[in-house]
Amino acid sequence: MSDVCTIGILGGGQLGRMLSVAASRLGLRCHIYEPGAAPAGDVAYTLTNATYTDDAALTDFAGSVDVVTYEFENVPTEALDLIESIVPIRPNRHALAVSQDRLTEKTFLNEIGLTTAPFADVPERDALAGALAQIGTPSILKTRRMGYDGKGQVRITDAGDAEWTGAPSVLEGFVEFSGEISVIVARGADGQVAAYDPGLNVHGEGILRTTTVPCGLPAMLTSDAVLIAARIANALDYVGVMGVELFVTPQGLIVNEIAPRVHNSGHWTQAGCAVDQFEQHIRAVAGLPLGDGGRYADVVMENLIGDDMKRVPDLMRAADTQVHLYGKGEARAGRKMGHVNRVTR
Ligand code: ATP
Ligand code: MG
Ligand code: MG
Repeated sequence: MSDVCTIGILGGGQLGRMLSVAASRLGLRCHIYEPGAAPAGDVAYTLTNATYTDDAALTDFAGSVDVVTYEFENVPTEALDLIESIVPIRPNRHALAVSQDRLTEKTFLNEIGLTTAPFADVPERDALAGALAQIGTPSILKTRRMGYDGKGQVRITDAGDAEWTGAPSVLEGFVEFSGEISVIVARGADGQVAAYDPGLNVHGEGILRTTTVPCGLPAMLTSDAVLIAARIANALDYVGVMGVELFVTPQGLIVNEIAPRVHNSGHWTQAGCAVDQFEQHIRAVAGLPLGDGGRYADVVMENLIGDDMKRVPDLMRAADTQVHLYGKGEARAGRKMGHVNRVTR
């Protein structure tokens, strides 16, 4: 059905781990490339633990797989160039480049007719005053690259005492949203698109805490959200699963950001769908037919962060709860250690 036997994954965190579990269920093998210390747990995959500047290791890795995908968006361009000279990368390089940088991402979203928060480029500290004059307060200064879980962000309420992020940034107007939702959308190698139901996301200190499906919004808004996600996937000629984060406002939906990979807010699909986001991504990058994304249960996904791990013994006793632990070791504050999917109906 597909010529892909082995999938290379850049990044050995929990997302790469769950992708490899899904791949092995489909009879496929994975080879994970992870420059960091210990990857999350040890499941059935080959591991290369080498840096992104180790050309020999990258060449060996790319030569051992049929297609390369990634579980995080900050892979250095030079490493991708080398890999792409040997084997295809899915989702494509353009999609990755657009979403690696908040400035190019928001510019792209506006170009395809979607609404973002008002924003201004702040390449250096000296440009901040001008950007604040344009965007006003309250606003949020975000590093253009590398930010996640709210890291690299500064909230500004008073232009007079604005802090600097320390790196090229964008200044975003603060959106008074009534809620945050996300759409997990998949696009196959043949251009077929399948989306999951939007989930309602609650964040604490910039980190996703819970995702709830159904999200409780009117059908008009949820279909709008799905159409927005599909428009982005089509415009990027995307192959794979993508997360699209949206703010709900009285004026309609505003796109916060996109993630060119499986997404934390899509973990509920493990308990709510016949084909979850991890299998869906593997199917897409391997050139297999997509699942349709249909949902058969109501689910609340809750991240287990830091001390939440103390609740695991109790959570394990709850009959309606699927427990996922990433095998990460020390439960430091703010560290995502696992998640649970509670089936509510
Ligand atoms: P992620 O882990 O989702 O990649 P991130 O570090 O890229 O997070 P954002 O998604 O940009 O960060 O912001 C984190 C959270 O901060 C958002 O989910 C939202 O709750 C809040 N936030 C971000 N930008 C704005 C904004 N312009 N107006 C209001 N709230 C915002
Ligand atoms: Mg982000
Ligand atoms: Mg986000």
